[in-house]
Amino acid sequence: MSIPRPPGDAPICSARGCRAPAQWALRWNNPRLHTADRRKTWLACADHRASLGDFLDARGFLREVAPLAGSPTLDG
Ligand SMILES: [Zn+2]
Repeated sequence: MSIPRPPGDAPICSARGCRAPAQWALRWNNPRLHTADRRKTWLACADHRASLGDFLDARGFLREVAPLAGSPTLDG
């Protein structure tokens, strides 16, 4: 159950059409599809953390948002 990584270098934002390096992991669960302890992970860049998080939160799916460890693009 690790964070999905594309082949190659840094993990990429999961937003449609976005190729920015991911900085956040959004962990979510759809109780209609998944058992309670299951976690799906979406990766998000700084620009898409809010929109992806809002999408999941509006549906009651969002469980946690964690900074993606090891991102070379995190500032400060
Ligand atoms: Zn993005």
